[in-house]
Amino acid sequence: MAENIKLEIVTPDNLVVDDEVQIVMAPGTDGEFGILKGHTPFLTSLKVGTVIYKDTLGKERLVFVSGGFAEALPDKVTILAESAERRRDIDQERAKQAMERAEKRLASHDESIDYVRAKAALIRAMYRLKVTGYIV
Ligand code: ATP
Repeated sequence: MAENIKLEIVTPDNLVVDDEVQIVMAPGTDGEFGILKGHTPFLTSLKVGTVIYKDTLGKERLVFVSGGFAEALPDKVTILAESAERRRDIDQERAKQAMERAEKRLASHDESIDYVRAKAALIRAMYRLKVTGYIV
């Protein structure tokens, strides 16, 4: 059986995950990647998306991350993100409202709208809703 690896997911405010895990999958900017214990060290940037890991019992756990960086060492993975939430900590109503707000902004013809910002907010909200299962 594969050995466990330590996973930390850290934001400026919180240590969101501090677990021993079997495998970590993360949304790298160059594509999704998986890390097992003993992986060659590397550093990469992350897209907004979902970190999926299996805990020591093999149960799959989902964590939203708003981009950031991942550092993999042979026995530890550290993810630094501006924001990150475990599935159970995501406020689905809040994410739905954020999605609706962003959609309205993007659909409006108001020249004062910052479209890049609205699109980034929409993507964050959609990924949060994917993690909760509201969006498939
Ligand atoms: P909102 O417009 O609802 O604030 P946002 O995408 O702009 O959403 P972020 O800037 O990514 O929010 O995060 C700000 C803080 O709020 C972070 O601490 C983040 O973990 C938390 N947060 C944002 N949305 C949610 C949510 N739906 N459920 C739980 N925590 C959330």
